[in-house]
Amino acid sequence: MLEHDIIIVGGGLAGCRAAVEIARKNPSLDVAVVAKTHPIRSHSVAAQGGIAASLQNVDPEDSWKAHAFDTVKGSDYLADQDAVEILAKEAPDVIIDLEHLGVLFSRLPDGRIAQRPFGGHSHNRTCYAADKTGHAILHELVNNLQRNGVKVYQEWYVMRLILEEGQAKGLVMYHILDGEIVLLRAKAIMLATGGYGRVFNTTSNDYASTGDGLAMAAMAGLPLQDMEFVQFHPTGLYPAGVLISEAVRGEGAYLINSDGDRFMANYAPSRMELAPRDITSRAITLEIRAGRGINMDGSAGGPFIYLDLRHMGREKIMSKVPFAWEEAHRLVGIDAVNKPMPVRPTAHYSMGGIPTNTDGRVLASADGLVDGLFAAGECACVSVHGANRLGSNSLLECVVYGRRTGAAMAEFVEGRKLPDVEEDGYLEEARKQIQGLLDRSGEYRIDFLRQQFQDAMTEHCGVFRSQDVMQQGLEKLEQLQEQYQQVYLDDKGKSWNTEIIEALELRSIIVVGETILSSALSRQESRGAHSREDFPQRNDERFLQHSLAYYSLAGIDISYRPVAITMFEPQERKY
Ligand SMILES: Cc1cc2nc3c(=O)[nH]c(=O)nc-3n(C[C@H](O)[C@H](O)[C@H](O)COP(=O)(O)OP(=O)(O)OC[C@H]3O[C@@H](n4cnc5c(N)ncnc54)[C@H](O)[C@@H]3O)c2cc1C
Repeated sequence: MLEHDIIIVGGGLAGCRAAVEIARKNPSLDVAVVAKTHPIRSHSVAAQGGIAASLQNVDPEDSWKAHAFDTVKGSDYLADQDAVEILAKEAPDVIIDLEHLGVLFSRLPDGRIAQRPFGGHSHNRTCYAADKTGHAILHELVNNLQRNGVKVYQEWYVMRLILEEGQAKGLVMYHILDGEIVLLRAKAIMLATGGYGRVFNTTSNDYASTGDGLAMAAMAGLPLQDMEFVQFHPTGLYPAGVLISEAVRGEGAYLINSDGDRFMANYAPSRMELAPRDITSRAITLEIRAGRGINMDGSAGGPFIYLDLRHMGREKIMSKVPFAWEEAHRLVGIDAVNKPMPVRPTAHYSMGGIPTNTDGRVLASADGLVDGLFAAGECACVSVHGANRLGSNSLLECVVYGRRTGAAMAEFVEGRKLPDVEEDGYLEEARKQIQGLLDRSGEYRIDFLRQQFQDAMTEHCGVFRSQDVMQQGLEKLEQLQEQYQQVYLDDKGKSWNTEIIEALELRSIIVVGETILSSALSRQESRGAHSREDFPQRNDERFLQHSLAYYSLAGIDISYRPVAITMFEPQERKY
């Protein structure tokens, strides 16, 4: 058995920022980060457009309160306002701190950090490093792990969370290199495992975003909050779904349909292309449904619309959004200086997740905490995004709540002993699980089942939803869950057996997908990213509440808990 004072699962922005904070608060603590990828390959590295903070460098009228209001309005009033207040108030400080850690932000001519407009934000407050912001921040944080002597277990896959009598005691992990299985125990454990975009067939997320942390928590009997709220980003490059950053619209690009119209005038006239993502994704989907989408030959009636940068000119495109230009050039052969890019909505972000308080402590129920378990970043739901996240608030959440959670853990472990864990049973069970996968003589290949599952989720729980379509979806998912018992692995070896990892990830995808669909069925209203064709109105009387989904093999139970409303009374959401 291996042991550390604190173990963090996930080497993205949230996990790394927490680790750095622990080292600052108490350098004598023994901290480890476990990641199934190299930390630098966490999805955070792909973040493009920027990170929000009311620095007032470009817009002296901005304030933390304006940032908080935009965030709460963007969330369709489902965000917890105490958590949003912390997010907006601490934002300027965490940005300056990142700069002191060495992050190279883009600059104004006078040397201060530059800030650009972003969807749903009423002021220019998004700080950025061209359109490679995640790359700039994550590299510095990972450098700081090394500088602070944090132990990194890279390319280890965490298979399960050990929770006994309401206390998190450790983890079971699998070494991708050679198949070794090890138990780790710690005084505090943090989940920072990121999102689940791979539950859907078209996503901007990396291959590792399979919701493992969420599935681990759910399978340990813990609730998942607000899982029905899936963000579909308006501009996934067609057909791959790879993200074209919102920064491109922030810098002035247009969305146009097959008639050549800037159709956002009909949906959000005051914000146009910079309306929040839920509204823009619905508008694009409606345009495509109405036959005003575009085909590859430029004719009407196709599956995408255009993102048009041509009026911005080569110099601005190449200096402000060079990566977006490169993506379109490399992946679909389009030079955005002369031609518009084909785009449509793509699964992008998880508003829901593992419920926590504002110190990152995980909730065991609507009113109880788990001893020794913490979470932050995209896998957590604190909840600052409610029913719809504003762009550039997620990196901010990772840094603000990563820092707070790190500080809370450093304090929590003070004076505590390592928990007692009986390791044999857990190791035996994990070995059986892996051997069971290798020994199966089933008929289904992993990639076949995964594709079926992702297609079912996209078809039955996409941008628009309704009772019948979701009910059919749930039946399909149950069938696929049974077929998972009959998967077949070609690779029977232990060395770099990526098929084993894919099989374990598919299990996470199945658990998370079922939770999303069940939570979506239960919420009979439209709010933020959750858009029900059979219940088109928001219903505050019944549903101004967070959902809590409890997973079990027998099915999923849904209950609700109140939203913290401390500053802004809910209003109709118009742009
Ligand atoms: C293309 C793209 C662009 C984006 N652009 C922006 C932007 O400009 N601004 C913004 O605010 N947000 C943006 N976002 C969202 C934002 O990047 C993410 O929400 C955020 O980076 C998530 O960070 P994280 O630390 O929670 O998780 P991640 O960075 O996803 O890291 C997860 C970590 O967990 C590890 N892990 C997962 N499962 C296991 C397991 N079973 N065992 C061991 N390790 C495991 C992974 O290896 C990884 O290290 C973007 C997202 C995408 C996909």
